Amino acid sequence: LEPAFQFMLRVVTPGGVATPEQWLVIDELAQKYGNGTIRVTTRQAFQLHGVLKWNLKQTIKGINDTLLTTLAACGDVSRNVMCNPNPLQSKVHEEVYHWSKELTKHLAPRTPAYHEIWLDGEKLENPYKPYSEPADPVEPIYGHVYLPRKFKIGIAVPPSNDIDVYSQDLGFIAVVEKDQLVGFNVTVGGGMGMTHGDTNTYPQLGKVIGFITPDKTLELAEKVVTIQRDYGNRSVRKNARFKYTIDRHGLDWFKEELQDRLGWELAPAREFAFESSGDRYGWAKNYDGTWNVTLFVRSGRIADTEQEQLMTGLREIAKVLKGDFRLTANQNVMIGNIPAKQKAAINKLLKKYNISIGEELSGLRRNALSCVALPTCGLAMAEAERYLPTLLDKLEPILEKYGLRDSEINVRMTGCPNGCARPALGEISFIGKSPGKYNMYLGAGFAGERLNKMYKENIGEEEIIATLEPIIEHYAKDRKKGEHFGDFVIRAGYIKATTDGTNFHSA
Ligand code: SF4
Repeated sequence: LEPAFQFMLRVVTPGGVATPEQWLVIDELAQKYGNGTIRVTTRQAFQLHGVLKWNLKQTIKGINDTLLTTLAACGDVSRNVMCNPNPLQSKVHEEVYHWSKELTKHLAPRTPAYHEIWLDGEKLENPYKPYSEPADPVEPIYGHVYLPRKFKIGIAVPPSNDIDVYSQDLGFIAVVEKDQLVGFNVTVGGGMGMTHGDTNTYPQLGKVIGFITPDKTLELAEKVVTIQRDYGNRSVRKNARFKYTIDRHGLDWFKEELQDRLGWELAPAREFAFESSGDRYGWAKNYDGTWNVTLFVRSGRIADTEQEQLMTGLREIAKVLKGDFRLTANQNVMIGNIPAKQKAAINKLLKKYNISIGEELSGLRRNALSCVALPTCGLAMAEAERYLPTLLDKLEPILEKYGLRDSEINVRMTGCPNGCARPALGEISFIGKSPGKYNMYLGAGFAGERLNKMYKENIGEEEIIATLEPIIEHYAKDRKKGEHFGDFVIRAGYIKATTDGTNFHSA
């Protein structure tokens, strides 16, 4: 008798966009084969947890039948390409979403093995998984060895840095003029993961290397990926990410290598400014008269609870919706492109199922991110998704006491230093060390432009609260107008600014 092995399935969803039909299929598969919930990841993908081994094939077939795929959602290849869900500039969203789909398609592995194993060799018309015949198994981009490590790409649209573009191996920052996308500033070499106690590993921010017009996007991405394929560290897996390749060889070397492979030079970067990395909650009107509404999803978990029937409510909305769903990089869900005449009906359903659009939440909770961690992730050393809401319950009265309930402060928690919820970019962050114990980090930039630094090591809830309360009180009394918490803790001398990932570990 075989043990009941269970698996997590991650579904590639470029830019996080899913049709109502796709939503209903994912919902049904979660009920039928998963644990009855859906997880929205910090890379705008769906995750199904608790899929038993003997149900894997049926679940993957169901996902493929709805023109989504699990191919390259994990592995040492380019992962789900992220893009800003953009409730305020929907016209631009169409364009950046187009590029996130094209990048996903262009960088998808061509292996037929996926189809042979999971789909009985069936060739399906799925736009995100180009298929090559077994007679031609060579991967034109990945070669015979694939990449040394996973590779992450994202597109941000200023002033929102919700996809944390500097955390991406390869980032594109949209440059928009007169409501049109004119090109992208390109960033390279970001990444969050590290290993506790190993200072040769560190989070790093991507650096801007220049500007390209949209028609150059695929060519540039392909050449960047091939440089990592050829120069990435294949001997030490902990140092295999692209950020280490760039730091080892230097940015000038990288730019020259890229230029040689492209045969042309990038133009100088254009001006841009980010204001925040969080989501814009609630209703917003599109340029074409349709509506979007961004919902708050607690720790990215779509489930029915005593307070709200999120899973049921979104299912009922999907049954009637004339628009689309967009998973955000902050683990929330936006319902997009709602026709004006359907707005009232959708609002009624949101109210009926008690679904939050974030209005009643504290500034801290509105900007909170956590990874899955225990009990599902095998790498977790401590709780994250299940514990962060409890910690926030205890921090909110303190913020309230000092008049900071509505202050936007971003807080992140992960169960290990792998960094799935991008913890090095939290103004306050917690990375699990052991059950109930976390390293606490302070001082990241509110718009994702600066890494944080470790403030206390291996502390539990009591010490976390005792440590944070006086800092919060000090912030309430002495902050300058508009000063973010992450900037304040540096100015007030609690922590030094991390100016580059290579000095993340220095005091
Ligand atoms: Fe990612 Fe680590 Fe969290 Fe697991 S515990 S989801 S690997 S950050």
